[in-house]
Amino acid sequence: MTDFTQNSPDTIESYKKKLIEETSKTVYSLTDDEELLNDLVDGMIINENRYGYPSCPCRMANGDLNTDRDIICPCVYRDSDLAQFGMCYCGLYQTEEFINSGNKIKPIPDRHSGKFSTTEAEKSSDTVSFNSKTVPVWRCTVCGYLASVEFPPVKCPVCKAKSDRFEKTSLVTRSI
Ligand code: SF4
Repeated sequence: MTDFTQNSPDTIESYKKKLIEETSKTVYSLTDDEELLNDLVDGMIINENRYGYPSCPCRMANGDLNTDRDIICPCVYRDSDLAQFGMCYCGLYQTEEFINSGNKIKPIPDRHSGKFSTTEAEKSSDTVSFNSKTVPVWRCTVCGYLASVEFPPVKCPVCKAKSDRFEKTSLVTRSI
C-alpha cells in the first residue's frame, strides 16, 4: 500500500525551494516561520501524491478535482484572506505588514467551509454576499488589471500598485 504520510527532508526541501522561487517572482510573501513552512509543504506534497493536485494542507479535500478546485493551493480565498486578515487560512502566505508586525498566525474563518456567513463578512465589507458567491470586480487604476475577489488585492500582481489604487467597478457571481 502506498504510504502517503512520509516525505523525506530532501523532498520537502526541494518542493519548498521551488515554491520560494516561484513566489519570489510574484507580489506574495511566504511565512518566515520555517517550521510552519515545512509542515505546510509536507502537507501539500502528501495531498499531491494522494489526489494528484496540491490541495490545501489545512482543509479536508474531497478527492474530486471539480469539487476541490477552489482549494488547490494557492486557493481562491487567498487574496481575500490576505486583505482582511494579513494571512491565508493556513498562514502559508502572509502580507509583508503582517510579517513585519511580528504577529503570530491565529485561526481565521474558513471561507471554503460555507460557515463564513454573510453576516460575518458584512462586518468588514458592505459589498459581499459570500454564500451566494457574489463578489465585486476590482480594477487597478494604474494598469487596468481586473480581479473578482471579495477584497481588493493587497498588491496588483501586474504593476504592484497597492490595494488603495483599486476601485470597485461592479458585482459578479462566481461559480466556485
Ligand atoms: S489557505 Fe493558504 S496554504 Fe491553504 S490553499 Fe489557500 S493559499 Fe494555500
